[in-house]
Amino acid sequence: MRLQTASIVAVGSELLGTRRLDTNSLRLASTLERWGIELQSKSVVGDSVDALADEIRRRIERVDLVITTGGLGPTTDDVTRGAVAQALGRGTYRDESVVEHIRGLFASFDREMPEVNERQAEVIEGARVLRNDWGTAPALRLDVADGTTLFLLPGVPKEMEKLVDAHLEPWLESRLREPAGLEQRVLKIASVPESVVEERIAPAYERFGAENLAVLASPGDIKVFYRAMGIPIARRSRLDLMGEVLRNLLDGLGIYAEDEEATLEQVAGRKLAEAGRTVVTAESCTGGLVAQRLTRVPGSSAYFEGGVVTYSNRLKRELLDVPQAMLEEHGAVSEPVARAMAVGARDRYGVDYAISVTGIAGPGGGSAEKPVGLVHLGIAGPGESPESVVHERVRFPGDRGQIRLMTSQLALELLRRRLAAD
Ligand code: AMP
Ligand code: MG
Repeated sequence: MRLQTASIVAVGSELLGTRRLDTNSLRLASTLERWGIELQSKSVVGDSVDALADEIRRRIERVDLVITTGGLGPTTDDVTRGAVAQALGRGTYRDESVVEHIRGLFASFDREMPEVNERQAEVIEGARVLRNDWGTAPALRLDVADGTTLFLLPGVPKEMEKLVDAHLEPWLESRLREPAGLEQRVLKIASVPESVVEERIAPAYERFGAENLAVLASPGDIKVFYRAMGIPIARRSRLDLMGEVLRNLLDGLGIYAEDEEATLEQVAGRKLAEAGRTVVTAESCTGGLVAQRLTRVPGSSAYFEGGVVTYSNRLKRELLDVPQAMLEEHGAVSEPVARAMAVGARDRYGVDYAISVTGIAGPGGGSAEKPVGLVHLGIAGPGESPESVVHERVRFPGDRGQIRLMTSQLALELLRRRLAAD
């Protein structure tokens, strides 16, 4: 049987509103993409039996696989079972084994099953019940007349993901064996302008096809995605080659990760842990953001000793030993002060590394000489004098939030590079 095209139907009136985004479709689309199934449409339908039945009827005429998500709950606004039954002209029946399963779930939390939950045991004639160990409603799979298959999945994102892994993936595998699909990898770079990355990888666009490369930029962070199609063995060797070419083209810009989820604070933290080194932060315009990011990583207490937020000159003096005369001569946002903050923090708090940040986040407080967005950063390593610490002066665009975010990103990137050089 053919399995080339698919449609996703997200069900829920809240998804038509302004507060809830349909993220389940993204998760489903990535599964279909990996299996090389062309996604022909995604739609969102409110909790209306007629509207949903209409949509289902239209979609099953056009594609080989229709996946719905949501609307399998116990309340009257959960209409998916009824709408699909209507669209197919089939009846429903109560499956007692499903009732027992739901009752058992409630019992495991010392609760009685409310009567409404029996609705979730309604099964469409001819459907296969797909066990749900992560929630009450089972998923359903139906084969309809012209060879189209329908999957009905619940809406709670975590639950849906589990059921995709437990039921949709194995079914796809049984139908397709080897996914002649799309596989994608990523190279991540911090604190480099997007245009610089674009320019560097230009030859790769030509060599591998522009459609197989994508640069995605967010403040201070760039992801270079590259992808290949085909059966796993072929696309993986293609991806290995593309990766090698891209790494060469990007040489020197500092690829910090090849895992989409990896963050700079994780990467820098891992390096500190491996080296058995410790770090403190001395922050002004970021107000503790660098420390906040470092401590987001579980286990950061192994290398992060703490941080000071020194907003005023007085605290730069009292907590970091920055000389009063230097503050008066150069101002708080200056290279000498950034250097002195880093060395002062390192020595005062007895650690191996210190990160310093001083800048003007705006919107006020700028001048011709020191405009909004101007930031000085320092990284003091073991044994370095104020003159030899890593210092960087930058001017970031954007509003206060963006300037602070990009500053924290550069601070962590400078630490990462400093650690990589050791
Ligand atoms: P339902 O299964 O329709 O009762 O939905 C249960 C919960 O999952 C609700 O809080 C929904 O807002 C959420 N949800 C339903 N569908 C989606 C979707 N497509 N993307 C993200 N969340 C969803
Ligand atoms: Mg719903």
